[in-house]
Amino acid sequence: MSRNLQYDAIIAGAGIIGASIAWHAARKGLKIAIIDASGPAAAASGASDGAVSVATKRPGVMASLARASLSYCADLAEQAQVLNGVFHTRPSYLFARIDAEAEALDRLTAMLTDQGLPVDVMRDGVAEKSSVPGLGESVARVLELSGEGHMLGYEATRAFLEESGAEGHWPCRLDAFEATKDGVILHTSTGEMRADRFVLATGMGTTNLLPDLPLMARSGQLIITDRAVGNDWPDLPGPLTSAAYLLDKTAQALPETLAPVVIDPLATGQLLIGSSREGGGTEEQTDFHMARRILISGVASLPALARRRVIRVFAGVRTATGDGFPIVGELPDMPNVFLATGFEGDGIGLAPLIGREVAGMLTGEGAMAEVNALSPMRFTRQKVASQ
Ligand SMILES: Cc1cc2nc3c(=O)[nH]c(=O)nc-3n(C[C@H](O)[C@H](O)[C@H](O)COP(=O)(O)OP(=O)(O)OC[C@H]3O[C@@H](n4cnc5c(N)ncnc54)[C@H](O)[C@@H]3O)c2cc1C
Repeated sequence: MSRNLQYDAIIAGAGIIGASIAWHAARKGLKIAIIDASGPAAAASGASDGAVSVATKRPGVMASLARASLSYCADLAEQAQVLNGVFHTRPSYLFARIDAEAEALDRLTAMLTDQGLPVDVMRDGVAEKSSVPGLGESVARVLELSGEGHMLGYEATRAFLEESGAEGHWPCRLDAFEATKDGVILHTSTGEMRADRFVLATGMGTTNLLPDLPLMARSGQLIITDRAVGNDWPDLPGPLTSAAYLLDKTAQALPETLAPVVIDPLATGQLLIGSSREGGGTEEQTDFHMARRILISGVASLPALARRRVIRVFAGVRTATGDGFPIVGELPDMPNVFLATGFEGDGIGLAPLIGREVAGMLTGEGAMAEVNALSPMRFTRQKVASQ
């Protein structure tokens, strides 16, 4: 069946990136449709931690984008209201149990001072253990940061979609697309769709559509507990992250006794505990060995965790790129086809800013220099240079 629908832009992928683009583009007056093979936040955006972090970003373009997005998140919560009740700022705590972790905290503190990021070290040291109740004996040092944010990927995705007024189509899988002089034609599992412009925000699904792009899966294990009942649970003021998480991000091999742990107290009273970083993996594969390592490290850092009941263990899959930067911009050989993928572990925090900037590309207003640096052109140039 051919539906021959006509839109200013169609977005494929209703994760947080596609949803944010839809909201921003609709605000600019574009008629938008958004399609998804499964449904909103069906992939990484529904299986992730919710850190809107600047402190854990690489200095340079990524830290600069994270900083701009953090401040823009606050605008979207307070002024535009779309993220009201979804985005929050709150203190976060990093802790070290062994020397290598303490050194990672030293490097982080030095980096924050050098870069002048909007994140403050409020307290640092052994005595600061008292700022987080219930820490285990093995925790040697705690660093308290203020100025960072938090939002759950699926809540932000839902908020952007609900407020966008965009036409949602799911389940509707994109099988192929072609750019013509009259616009873009999409071949989907429910028929043909047409638009002037098209954005591919399909996360790992992009590998089937553009197999030459250097994209790879990097999965992570997540654990959800029951809600805390009674008053024997230490009231965590914010997420508690092991410095091993920082080491893991820089691909340092961790000893078996150490795991990347983020213990995140949710508004529901549950804990979201994450998340590792394995090469490969799919959403259908849970790595119980890694989940067990995360829980053992978690209990060593916060012994009361042993009294909570785990109700779900699941895996999320980050879409990583060969050079570690997301891919955002118009495809060199396909006018009017834009790409927004490869956000690896940064997509929740960057989505508000990326949505705004891609919407600017769709209307022809253009984007900020740091986003232009993420253009897919960089792979074409590499190809030409190596020929
Ligand atoms: C364990 C884990 C922890 C994380 N923690 C953080 C964190 O603390 N902070 C942070 O900023 N980021 C974090 N991330 C990263 C973040 O979740 C991702 O970068 C972000 O969700 C990517 O969003 P996306 O919209 O690009 O992709 P996705 O959420 O993967 O969405 C892609 C969508 O495209 C759809 N799709 C795919 N193929 C097709 C097709 N052919 N046709 C139609 N639809 C299709 C899928 O169904 C899916 O809904 C984490 C990720 C993981 C896995």
